Amino acid sequence: MLYKGIAASDGIAIGKAFVIEDEEFSAVKKPIAKEDVHSEIEKFKNAVIDTKLELEKAKGKVAKHFGKKHVKLFEAYIFIAEDPTFEKDVISKINKELINAEYALYNVIEKYSQVFDKIEDEYFRERGKDILDVGKKIMKHITGAHKKMLSEVTEHSIVFANNLTPTDTIVMKEENVLAFATNMGGVTSHTAIMARAMEIPAVVGMKDITTHAIHGQTVIIDGNEGVVIIDPDEDTITNYKRRQQLYIGEIKELSKYMDLPAVTTDGKKIVVASNIEIPEETKSVISHGSEGIGLFRTEYLFLNRREFPSEEEQFESYRMVVEKVFPNSVVIRTIDLGGDKLLPYFNLKEERNPFMGLRAIRFCLRHPEVFKIQLRAILRASVFGNVKIMYPMISGIDELRAANYLLNEVKKELSSKTIQYDENVEVGVMIEIPSAALTVDILVKEADFLSIGTNDLIQYTVAVDRINEYVTNLYDPLHLSILRLLKTIIDTGQKAGKWVSMCGEMAGDPLYTEILLGLGLEHFSVVSSSVLRTKKEVRRVNLAAAKKMADEILNDPSKRDIILRKIKQRRKH
Ligand code: PEP
Ligand code: MG
Repeated sequence: MLYKGIAASDGIAIGKAFVIEDEEFSAVKKPIAKEDVHSEIEKFKNAVIDTKLELEKAKGKVAKHFGKKHVKLFEAYIFIAEDPTFEKDVISKINKELINAEYALYNVIEKYSQVFDKIEDEYFRERGKDILDVGKKIMKHITGAHKKMLSEVTEHSIVFANNLTPTDTIVMKEENVLAFATNMGGVTSHTAIMARAMEIPAVVGMKDITTHAIHGQTVIIDGNEGVVIIDPDEDTITNYKRRQQLYIGEIKELSKYMDLPAVTTDGKKIVVASNIEIPEETKSVISHGSEGIGLFRTEYLFLNRREFPSEEEQFESYRMVVEKVFPNSVVIRTIDLGGDKLLPYFNLKEERNPFMGLRAIRFCLRHPEVFKIQLRAILRASVFGNVKIMYPMISGIDELRAANYLLNEVKKELSSKTIQYDENVEVGVMIEIPSAALTVDILVKEADFLSIGTNDLIQYTVAVDRINEYVTNLYDPLHLSILRLLKTIIDTGQKAGKWVSMCGEMAGDPLYTEILLGLGLEHFSVVSSSVLRTKKEVRRVNLAAAKKMADEILNDPSKRDIILRKIKQRRKH
């Protein structure tokens, strides 16, 4: 059976399905005989031991990838599982009420959760969810029903899930998962972005694929075309093995662009840099012949943990990246938390429209104590290489000034303590909100560079949630409104003598390279695995012809489809 979804990360994989089921917490009450009490209690105790082992294993994996500081969540889970009062409560319930272990556990956890639900303080209220999570894990071990969880994924399998978080993708990389498919998600969701960064083929937005895939069945994922095939016949497998070889061949062929500059046929030099999410990706930046880092999404340092990373820890991460990439530059974006990247440990209210809520720079300006620590860490790292600072989600000049005010305060504080930093560090602004794009002439006067975040710019301009699979068809990077905004941003930035980059996913899609060059873009920042392909595209474009093409599509949007067809045709040869 063939199913179509959204092509989220390139590559073809053939393997066995590992279907992660949605966990829900429930149990049926069953009376037990007095002589069965002992065995029910043993069942519960063994499940607690198995849960602790599972958590220890997960903790080890996270520590390996994110460092020891990120394991606090797992430590807290283990602490709950080991809590003697909790154990006593469940055992006494089995004993006194003569009920099965599942129900006793369910009952105790439910009671605890209710108590936590009533707590005013959000931080403590959140801890109720941790208790529920631990309860689910123990329940799974008692029932042996074995609902599959990501932590148990086996090597070389293909994961199917309703939804996955960006950090789940890192766990999958660690476990050598071949590919994944999800019911939810869009091409610019951070899970999809992470899949491309980790080079795991993926298809997202499949709506109900988890109801079709059966655990252990042979499946094919074609991340290039956004196709999932369940239980393929021999001919289909042979066909996809051939496609897989062709794709691997194409990737190998790209290595010849490693040491070649990205220059158009008429001699215009273009910069192709990388986007990274975690410091470990620096290796990939270097191995793909990238010209530095155009976007370091630092918020990943803040995820999967129990408290904010300290100034020292942040400083070490930034310094490591900056030193490795030197003499190329690193654009360190200040944290963009919120949206689909939530902080479980900070007292923030749940928002109805998180992408339009207290996100990114808004969060930082509301919490200068958090922001200033990051700015201090970045400034301190700036003497170890070539650092630039960038603010996300700026909606207007007041926010830029407020952020710069805090930056200057931090600079003064460092100077007063004779702590060194690069006094000429460039400060740029992401243009990813229509209000910023429409006032870019004002913003550019107080910024050293601009970077266009098309992932958000498109979602806000066309009003299409970037992670909602039901409206993906409307998420159009070539919408006339977007092309007009891009032209305005690029022209205005360049006229002011500032450099303009694009770090949204549009920059890394070879379909758009020519049009973007035609619109005047000179700096591309893309996932590392797309650097060589982008260079290849740039090297076959004639800038004069590209400019004509961009003008044509701007003046007559009805030509859009013809032009796209032409580009696709040309790319085939
Ligand atoms: C963007 O919005 O295009 C961008 C690069 O930022 P993020 O994807 O992290 O929101
Ligand atoms: Mg963005």
